[in-house]
Amino acid sequence: MNHFSIKLLTIVFSLLYHSESISDTIAKTLQDSSLKSVENRDIKLVSVPVSGKVNIKNPRYLYIQAGLHGNETATSSFVEWLIRKTKKGKSLLNQLPPNTTIDFVPKASPDTWNKSRYNSNQINLNRNFAVFFGISTEPTGSAPFSEPETKAIKKLFEKRNYISAVDIHGYVNWIVTPSKPTGQHMSDKRQIRQYHRWKKQIASLTKTHLPHYSLQEALALGDGGAFEDWAFWERKSLAFCMEMDSKERLKPLSKNKSIDTWKEYEVYLFKVFSSALSISEEEQNQLAEI
Ligand SMILES: [Zn+2]
Repeated sequence: MNHFSIKLLTIVFSLLYHSESISDTIAKTLQDSSLKSVENRDIKLVSVPVSGKVNIKNPRYLYIQAGLHGNETATSSFVEWLIRKTKKGKSLLNQLPPNTTIDFVPKASPDTWNKSRYNSNQINLNRNFAVFFGISTEPTGSAPFSEPETKAIKKLFEKRNYISAVDIHGYVNWIVTPSKPTGQHMSDKRQIRQYHRWKKQIASLTKTHLPHYSLQEALALGDGGAFEDWAFWERKSLAFCMEMDSKERLKPLSKNKSIDTWKEYEVYLFKVFSSALSISEEEQNQLAEI
């Protein structure tokens, strides 16, 4: 190959790479340019088929979100690390069933990343979702999905049928499961069964894989309008919130120490997602039998 062809190939590759990276946003994926942050920033969305193959038949989607609170930057670094590993086929997540595709949103509040817990309207985005809305001492927004960032997430969930979804926060040793059913959900018998099943499953996996963690529910913490309650009760996704451990433990004293901590979370997510996919498959089979 002569010098000119090499140069041409390099240009073509860089263009391809570039076009891939600029299409990786919620706005581009849903072809709706309004789905951006308050300050019109793109919200990055990276879809990775775990088998490495695109155009899979009947893909099953999982969702991993971080940085909904912009100041919790370690959550975004962790998710970006997971994206790199999964894209290379080197993550445990690549061992999920081959028709699985994972949607990663590493910085859900791009305007205030590394700046603030709130978005640029000074709203706590994790109090702006539609279930138990208004029960919070923090700024919730004027109505559910009043904020462009949560609106974009809602649209994404309407497009994809996420079997399971995690919202990652920091920094305490908690797993936050969906909150127990109240009045408005009591009539949904199927979802109440799912709630008990899901909670039991998470309790068991947490005990084994994050034994220093405790289980919480947003409503009991006084945090209405949280992501996982909406994703579970409204979108029927097996949702949860994973807090990353104390900041001290995550501090990169050395690069490897930080990565070791992240591996624990990678194993945990793999186990929880595997479990969610089998629960969903079992349910599909039961429905098919009826
Ligand atoms: Zn948070």
